[in-house]
Amino acid sequence: MTANSDDDVLKDDAVAHHDHDEGSALPEVALRVRALESLLVEKGYVDPAALDELIDAYETRVGPRNGARVIARAWAEPEYKAWLLEDADAAIAAMGFTGRQGEHMLVKENTPKVHNMVVCTLCSCYPWPVLGLPPVWYKSPAYRSRAVSDPRGVLEEFGVTLLPSQAVRVWDSTAELRYLVLPMRPEGTEGWGQEELARLVTRNSMIGTALALNPADLAGTEQEGG
Ligand code: FE
Repeated sequence: MTANSDDDVLKDDAVAHHDHDEGSALPEVALRVRALESLLVEKGYVDPAALDELIDAYETRVGPRNGARVIARAWAEPEYKAWLLEDADAAIAAMGFTGRQGEHMLVKENTPKVHNMVVCTLCSCYPWPVLGLPPVWYKSPAYRSRAVSDPRGVLEEFGVTLLPSQAVRVWDSTAELRYLVLPMRPEGTEGWGQEELARLVTRNSMIGTALALNPADLAGTEQEGG
């Protein structure tokens, strides 16, 4: 009996700690959105291609670009970085990035001694205002379990080579608290402006499954892009 009561208490704690309003609300919302979308397209009010473009913007551009601007500013302005590490909500809101799923954020700084990596072991909690929507792999059961049991193995698969001096610290996001990684500023960027710096900050580098790009990587990307 005692064991059972303890289990129940633990279970309750876990649920309370990781409260998912999105879990129960989403299916119904998704259905409504789909119905509305069909209706609008049918009536000719919206172009499905434009909708795809909008969704693509949120998934791949708007979100992570916001986070990249926050990181670039932290790299360039020591006072802003201190504020960001002390009170991420206020420092991020000051740049105009607020909204759902971003009410309580914590920023964890990578250093030569520590590499931080973020996961949501129970589902997909993620700081939307700065990163947009989570990528598919972030929501996958494999990432959610292995990020905790074998973080170095996961990092290797993402192609991340840590310094021998670096320990890995894994942060479990919840609905109440969502983490953002402040990657290390790459060498060879002294004197760079914030816009230029922001281009080195990838989405994955702010989850901790990548490092920030090097100036050389950026040159490669530009050549590929034409
Ligand atoms: Fe979650």
